[in-house]
Amino acid sequence: MGRIRLRPGRQRSLLAGRPWVYRNEIGEVEGDPATGDVIVVADARGRYVATAFYHRTSMLAARVLSRREGEEVGTDFFRRRLLAAWALRSRFLDDVSACRVVFAEADGLPGLIVDRFDRVLVVQTLTAGMDARLDMVLDTLTAMTGITDVYERNDGPVRRLEGLPERRGPLRGHPPDRVDVREGAVRLTVDLARGQKTGHFLDQRDNRLAFGRAVRRLLVEPALDGAAVPPPPPRDPGGPAAAAPPGACAGPPAVPPPPARAVRVLDAFCNTGGFGLHALAAGAGEVWFVDSSEAAVEAALEHAERNGFGGRAVGRVGNAFDELRSLEAEPRSWDAIVLDPPAFARGRAQLDGAFRGYKDLNLRAMRLLAPGGLLCTCSCSQPVTWEMFSAMLAEAAADTGRSMRVLERRGAPADHPGLLGAEETQYLQCHLLQAVD
Ligand code: SAH
Repeated sequence: MGRIRLRPGRQRSLLAGRPWVYRNEIGEVEGDPATGDVIVVADARGRYVATAFYHRTSMLAARVLSRREGEEVGTDFFRRRLLAAWALRSRFLDDVSACRVVFAEADGLPGLIVDRFDRVLVVQTLTAGMDARLDMVLDTLTAMTGITDVYERNDGPVRRLEGLPERRGPLRGHPPDRVDVREGAVRLTVDLARGQKTGHFLDQRDNRLAFGRAVRRLLVEPALDGAAVPPPPPRDPGGPAAAAPPGACAGPPAVPPPPARAVRVLDAFCNTGGFGLHALAAGAGEVWFVDSSEAAVEAALEHAERNGFGGRAVGRVGNAFDELRSLEAEPRSWDAIVLDPPAFARGRAQLDGAFRGYKDLNLRAMRLLAPGGLLCTCSCSQPVTWEMFSAMLAEAAADTGRSMRVLERRGAPADHPGLLGAEETQYLQCHLLQAVD
């Protein structure tokens, strides 16, 4: 087995939990390992640190597989890891009919992504080591889940960094191009061939459900039923209210029910419509779906139609930044706005630009919100920390002069776990805010 020795001190972040080694951290390579080989990573003094996949040219030179010295990393090892991944989902999630079965490093399987959509598995192998073991992985996945139809979505640009060709299409069995899944009350069609990434962004599943819940409970239900709004407590007879004009009736004043008005929702960066569809299912009167991809907006409208919400959905193909800007000129406000943009920063060098981009979006959304309105704002930029994002939100709120409160701060669900010691793997943030007035 080949071995790499790290430069002095470079084992520290690895020991703290980071699951990869950068090329510039390597002091010496012993035994001429090939790309995709399993190697040992040692510190400068030769002490064992981890067992990893090796890559001869990628900037990420080694990806950790095991931290147990002497553990054999062969077929049995990969089987055990795959079974553990499936066990986590089966035990932890209420519904495994649409979930991420394997999430790469977080499942100790660097580069392997497997999503389940009903009776189809969608697979990505983003490292040379995993790509070389794809057949064995598929045998185990099929035996474990009982699913025999497998679709490959190895058409992302990350494969190029590992020197792997881009491929897409049926891999095993006879997977259809489109498959239906349920997400709470919403039925979605996942386009395995043309959808973005694996066809559907499963990492936002629980956040979409939470958003739908908030729209229903905070915006829709009080408007439909005035009784849901509790009357104010009786006034203190000795207080200023005692100075009521003579003849005014005693007791608390009747609370007029709030006017029944249609709740308006803006789903920006909607992709196939997930957030907005849950708002429609919750009873929203009107949802605008905005995305720069025409195919995405079409899919969102098709989803609205098929779920019986057709008359309440409006599609807008365009740049969400421009759309938000032009909406500011309109007099009407929005009861809820979703911002779920793609990653604005991939590395630290892009952080400043990302901060400005997020702030611009959030500031505009805050300006558009009605009093009591909800803002569901997300980031999937790995280098953007919770602290940075919260600071950006506070600045945006201050600049608009609005008082915003935090109802929920949510991350990724348990089928997309992150690793401690590797902040980048906890990439997803979803903040649910409300305009106080
Ligand atoms: N909210 C979606 C996922 C959004 S992914 C869901 O729950 O499924 C990000 C989306 O942003 C993609 O669909 C992409 O097409 C879109 N996008 C990227 N840049 C954009 C821009 N400048 N304006 C509008 N949409 C954009």
